[in-house]
Amino acid sequence: MNQRSHGQRKQSDIFGLNRFGIESNPTITADLIVVPCSGGKDSQACIKLAKTTGKRVIGAFCDTKFEHPLTYSHIDRMQNLYGIKIYRINEGSSVPEQVIRHREFPGIRHRFCTKNLKIRPSKRFYESLSREAGPFEVWIGVRKDESTARAKRYSGLIGDEILCPHEFMSEYPKRLAANGVMFRLPIIDWSADDVFDYLGGEENPLYSHGAKRVGCFPCLAVSDDQMRWAFGHDEFGRNQWRTVHFLEQKIGKTALRNDTYNSCSFCNI
Ligand code: SF4
Repeated sequence: MNQRSHGQRKQSDIFGLNRFGIESNPTITADLIVVPCSGGKDSQACIKLAKTTGKRVIGAFCDTKFEHPLTYSHIDRMQNLYGIKIYRINEGSSVPEQVIRHREFPGIRHRFCTKNLKIRPSKRFYESLSREAGPFEVWIGVRKDESTARAKRYSGLIGDEILCPHEFMSEYPKRLAANGVMFRLPIIDWSADDVFDYLGGEENPLYSHGAKRVGCFPCLAVSDDQMRWAFGHDEFGRNQWRTVHFLEQKIGKTALRNDTYNSCSFCNI
């Protein structure tokens, strides 16, 4: 799908909603759709799309305590914008606390912060919610065109398919599927331009400041260039650098390591 292909669709299906079959999709049998959101554009598009189904929609924001203030205020704003509750999930830890505990910074192969601040807490959230609310769908905002690895991994998948949670990520237990929790990747074939056009300027203002991704500010597992951009971006970024420098001294390791960019499918970074 090229960057502007949605512009060639019929006006009535400008965002490909008919292609996903969402409004009349018989496979959406659950009454509830949960959207894990980071404050980034892709999860926001999933929220907006989920609202078109007429189902009850809630958000789940795994708070790493390392996000930009604009992201926290954007999470609040989305609740009003879409009339939904976004649950903040945090079990008492943070990215700095994880770095100290593990005595290293997260990297391409060692994302203990993702596991402990996002995957495990979200798993417990889904388990508890399924006991209380019964079956539901989880809509994840990943897209094939984000990277070659994602294009390869999701090559056979379309936005109309549902997956068992453990098929999406092996860390999720099979009992989630047994409890009626299913995953869907509704914008899997969208381009970044599709997403921005669909949101129509409602996205996190960090994008207009030049941020390429939204999540921890900065994600400590991305390239040095991206980290440097965040550390120099504003007063909050400079404060984050002071925190990271304190962590460097505390654990005797450096955060900047000449790593090249690598994406994380859970953090969507
Ligand atoms: S965005 Fe980066 S620093 Fe934050 S939890 Fe994910 S991998 Fe860790």
